[in-house]
Amino acid sequence: MEHHQSKGDTLSPHPNPNRNPCPICLGPVNDESYLDQCFHKFCYNCILRWTKVAAYKHSAPPTSVKCPLCKTENFSIIHGCDGFSFRRHFIGQDFHKSDFFTKAHKYRLQSYYCETGTLIDVFNPTRYWKLHKYLQPSHWLYDWMRREIQALTQEEDVDIIVHHILGVIESWRRNEQTSSRTSPEAKQERFRILVSEAARCFLTGRTNQFVNELEMFLASGLNMDAYDKVYLKNLGWKIPEINEDEEEPHEHAPVVPNLYLFDEHSDYTE
Ligand SMILES: [Zn+2]
Ligand SMILES: [Zn+2]
Repeated sequence: MEHHQSKGDTLSPHPNPNRNPCPICLGPVNDESYLDQCFHKFCYNCILRWTKVAAYKHSAPPTSVKCPLCKTENFSIIHGCDGFSFRRHFIGQDFHKSDFFTKAHKYRLQSYYCETGTLIDVFNPTRYWKLHKYLQPSHWLYDWMRREIQALTQEEDVDIIVHHILGVIESWRRNEQTSSRTSPEAKQERFRILVSEAARCFLTGRTNQFVNELEMFLASGLNMDAYDKVYLKNLGWKIPEINEDEEEPHEHAPVVPNLYLFDEHSDYTE
């Protein structure tokens, strides 16, 4: 078989995609592009979406974007380099306000860029598996997952992805209800593998952390608002629109406690 030499070879001798992944999707860089001032490299679609997300709160088109890696102010994205020519996308040239990306989306996306390992102790997924709580579906999973995947992909319309992953989880749960011979550890392992397989082509390098986050959300037994408050409080993050009233009792928005599957009675009142 003939060895194919591409034009790019003389410029960059086979960069190892695992060593130099796109900082946004953590996958191999697809359609290499650079910010014009700091020259950090990203997938074209990743950095383009990023500029839209960064612009979400502006009412007028922004003309620059801060690099997500170094915070340098940049004015255009350089892409399509073939050694002879390149194209340039100026920030804000196709600006339209995107309403779906809220502060909560932003905090979810940020949590994928920070050390959040301490939350494992707070939400305790191990107990979730040991107590067979996974047999009880979460009513809030759809909303949580939709927001999570919107934040990670920075796309509004993610219903197909959400339904795909939820379908995998649902059929896994149906199987578990009939066969309960394996250990909690084996169940957890199987669950993680199935969800990873379903999510990987959409979430690439963020897949493992997505599965961790999913387990923590399920283990919490909380609805999304309550979960956000606990999450942010434990990280010490302040996001006014989410945890502004955290010191007040939640009279009209009760924090739902962990639901024990085998509880005979519940004193939870509306
Ligand atoms: Zn990327
Ligand atoms: Zn940079």
